[in-house]
Amino acid sequence: MSLAPGNGPVQISPEQLRARISELAARIREDYAGKEPHLICVLNGAFMFHTDLVRALGMTCTIDFMQTSSYGNAKQSSGEVKLVKDLQFPLSDRHVILVDDIVDTGITMNYLLHYLQGRGPASLKVAALLSKPSRRKVEVPVEYLGFTIPDAFVYGYGLDRSQYDRNLPFITSQE
Ligand code: IMP
Repeated sequence: MSLAPGNGPVQISPEQLRARISELAARIREDYAGKEPHLICVLNGAFMFHTDLVRALGMTCTIDFMQTSSYGNAKQSSGEVKLVKDLQFPLSDRHVILVDDIVDTGITMNYLLHYLQGRGPASLKVAALLSKPSRRKVEVPVEYLGFTIPDAFVYGYGLDRSQYDRNLPFITSQE
């Protein structure tokens, strides 16, 4: 699913989020039938998406969390990714789905994919709630994508505005 491209404001309602996440969960359920996927949440931004996705999955799975930092309180990535919190569990022989909030330049995702690949998972795929393809600096494969959005700063549903507004139940770009 994709939102209309353009420079208009981005607004994604709780109902749209719920419907799209349940579609993604159904695809994952089908793709991982007979397996037990391991869903890694990239903190902080993906915490709501990850929670709702695993809740909608309806299959046996395991979870873990990691945290990167590249933005501080800025709206632009510094381009340098730091690992602030590492994984708790090993990945060898696990079918890993990396769950992130948004792919912007792709720098964070690219770093994480290389990092996780180095830990020898049986497979590695990406679920991202949002993507801003016009901002991409590094191409990254996103198997399960919620919404494509134009180049606008968005917040809510886990994504922050200088650490605030993560608790909004919708996503918006409006001031
Ligand atoms: P990238 O490395 O440029 O792809 O940035 C990825 C990270 O930047 C995301 O995981 C978010 O935490 C943050 N980010 C990028 N765009 C936005 C936005 O519009 N609102 C809030 N956070 C954003």
